Amino acid sequence: MITQLESARQGILTSEMKAIAGQEGLDETFILDHVAKGEIVIPCNPNRKYQKTVGIGTGLRTKVNASIGTSSDICDIGLEVEKARAAEEECADTLMELSAAGDMDKIRRTVLDSTNLPVGNVPLYQAFKETIQKHRNPAKLDPEYLFDLMEQQLADGLSFMAIHCGINQYAIDRLRKQGFRYGGLASKGGTFMVAWMDINQRENPLYEQFDRVCRLMKKYDAVLSLGNGIRAGAIHDSHDRAQMAEMIINCELAEIGREMGCQTMVEGPGHVPLDEIEGNIMLEKRMSGNAPYYVLGPIPCDTGAGYDHISAAIGAASSARFGADLVCYITPAEHLALPDVHDVREGVRATRLAVRIGDLAKYPDRRDTEKQAALARRDMRWEDLSRHLLFPDIAEAVRSARAPEEKQTCTMCGDFCAMKKGMELFETDIKEKR
Ligand code: SF4
Repeated sequence: MITQLESARQGILTSEMKAIAGQEGLDETFILDHVAKGEIVIPCNPNRKYQKTVGIGTGLRTKVNASIGTSSDICDIGLEVEKARAAEEECADTLMELSAAGDMDKIRRTVLDSTNLPVGNVPLYQAFKETIQKHRNPAKLDPEYLFDLMEQQLADGLSFMAIHCGINQYAIDRLRKQGFRYGGLASKGGTFMVAWMDINQRENPLYEQFDRVCRLMKKYDAVLSLGNGIRAGAIHDSHDRAQMAEMIINCELAEIGREMGCQTMVEGPGHVPLDEIEGNIMLEKRMSGNAPYYVLGPIPCDTGAGYDHISAAIGAASSARFGADLVCYITPAEHLALPDVHDVREGVRATRLAVRIGDLAKYPDRRDTEKQAALARRDMRWEDLSRHLLFPDIAEAVRSARAPEEKQTCTMCGDFCAMKKGMELFETDIKEKR
């Protein structure tokens, strides 16, 4: 197996790199150069027959991830398949299968068969769940079993994995010395790994044997996403010493992984106030040598439960604007319950809108769709306008449910339609036509 990164370093332009250049409207050499530098990753495990090609990183459209998966309370494989399909229909770019209950091999394989999106996971979930089932004690997790399980999951066709390599004894010491936190620990896999290390008084095997992790990922050309186990779960914990310790380690590991030829990205940062998002992105980019940054939101406010998809969308617009490359969606059920199909749709839509807004600022020369939409709106060409909208189905449904008498306008202003009046007044002066 030669990875996309190793191919690029040898100057080999793969079919995936070509596809990405076409999708993004960029030069093939740009893609080749940035894959070679580790600034663009392509999750494309060749064990998966039908898979959408997606590029994540410098110069590319910011991508959206949707996460699905069972919990011990709601464990319905049919529902997870429906959620996977809904995420793809709503144009998510990648999917994470994060089941923590049920027959996890079966769920993973069924989900992989139900979607063409590149699929990732967090291998620690299954590892701890099965260890608890067998020994009634997560501290009994055998690192050899964990590595075997990761290999089995990769062989099934996963194209990226969030692996908590950056939690080490040094980072845990920072948590203790700073007097723990306001928002506790927010990562399921990360917290169980911290417990394992604490009870066994051992170093994290994923950190200790990082080269083994990279070799495994390379064997399937899967992207190693360096998990953010000590991410902030409250804005008051943002950039505390524990989070920064893990971020420094993850960025260091990103460099080592890249040198080994393993496609690597870094995860972060959880809850972050709006004014700290730019700095957070700058730190990750600077310390990792521009490794793609996979952000969870971030959520810039702790009091929006029920509307956390909107809180996170505000954070996501900002993170995309300052350089985040892949944004994990947050649904309206965040912090409250396992998302249902409606939540998945809302989460993907909110995040797509957020990263569009971010990308308009990140790439000011890529605003043509907005211009075309504005001209169609000005000219009241409603059908043309629909073609440029992110969510034409919603727009058309709302307009037709409250249809105007005068077809050109809408029921917002009716006879006082400013668009219509403006066109009557300035029609002969218009320079920019469609
Ligand atoms: S009625 Fe008002 S909202 Fe509707 S198209 Fe005219 S100006 Fe726009």
